Amino acid sequence: MQSKDLVQLAEQFGSPLYVYDAEKIQSQYNRLTKAFSKVDKLRINYAMKALSNIAILQLLKEMGSGLDTVSIQEVLLGLHAGYDPEKIFYTPNGVSLEEIEEVSAMGVQINIDNLSILEQFGTKYPNVPVCIRINPHVMAGGNANISVGHIDSKFGISVHQLPHLVRIVENTKMNIVGIHMHTGSDILDIEVFLYAAEILFDAARNFKNLEFLDFGSGFKVPYKKDDIETDIEELGKKLSKRFNAFCTEYGKELTLIFEPGKFLVSEAGFFLAKVNVVKQTTSTVFAGIDSGFNHLIRPMFYGSQHHIENISHPKGKERFYSVVGYICETDTFANNRKIAEIKEGDILSFRNAGAYCFSMASNYNSRYKPAEVLWMNGEGHLIRAHETFEDILKNQIPLPVAVTTS
Ligand SMILES: *Cc1c(COP(=O)(O)O)cnc(C)c1O
Repeated sequence: MQSKDLVQLAEQFGSPLYVYDAEKIQSQYNRLTKAFSKVDKLRINYAMKALSNIAILQLLKEMGSGLDTVSIQEVLLGLHAGYDPEKIFYTPNGVSLEEIEEVSAMGVQINIDNLSILEQFGTKYPNVPVCIRINPHVMAGGNANISVGHIDSKFGISVHQLPHLVRIVENTKMNIVGIHMHTGSDILDIEVFLYAAEILFDAARNFKNLEFLDFGSGFKVPYKKDDIETDIEELGKKLSKRFNAFCTEYGKELTLIFEPGKFLVSEAGFFLAKVNVVKQTTSTVFAGIDSGFNHLIRPMFYGSQHHIENISHPKGKERFYSVVGYICETDTFANNRKIAEIKEGDILSFRNAGAYCFSMASNYNSRYKPAEVLWMNGEGHLIRAHETFEDILKNQIPLPVAVTTS
């Protein structure tokens, strides 16, 4: 989609606004399936925590995607969007046995990531098919907060604990149908990924009844022009070959699963915000927008660099700006960033706003969350309305009588 479409959508639906390009989501999905076309049984489970609007879930369902969920509420949303329970995976971390039991009873594939729950669940439900999350301890990821494979990570069952794991499975006679790993976001080095895959194959040799291997996600997407990204095509070529060889060795055609979030939706998203004020201080020109980390927290939380364009006046002379929000704390989206000259009232567009942007939005400062629009077949479809004051009040309970404090 083009900048002029975004300008028109900001006029039509107001700002701040999230816009998602359906075609981009589709092309990323196709790119991934094509890269692994040599694998007979391939399954993509969209990691919906990246962007959980039900219209997006429906769109991905139409493409044939399954879902990867991390909470019972995500499972409920997936079912609400029309997914069959068999198409949903549940990969939580640190949740209660009760929640796992509840999700399992819905017919959703559960994935267990610690020995304590594994033993309890296996003892109670030896016949329920279970997937186990292994931690291969391969360092990956662009940021300490999103790197989940290191030795002291809270995620997964350490490969070093395999003997204990195998004993639990033998004692409970539980049914292990899949092995899973997810080493973190922003994997750059394919060799690192392949190395982790070998560890997964090794672990898999301990189980006789497997149906699938789940390689998680962590594909890096470009954030700016000429930025590095995971070479999916190269990974597809190399991993498919290794996977098929492993299946031959194992004596069974297994399903290869990926659960990408960012890869499918990051680049499809644009965040549009209006410049309320341009403020020149002694050293800096600030562009203050009608938003803050309540709507887009990644720059402050992860240090993410979202490319910013002035789509109202794209041809203006470029100047250096600090783009900041209206939250009453420091909330800087970008520092010293070259942007076409900004006038008050201009619309700025943030790129890569599809993944972990709206889904991490809050009502901090009692602000409304933005609306969301899906751009499809050359038209904008509102898929989430702007909030109203009712939303802020919802679930709040006033005191029954006037209260005076002493
Ligand atoms: C978050 C998450 C993903 C998706 O990661 P991306 O970097 O967005 O692709 C996949 N699997 C699990 C278990 C996750 O927690």
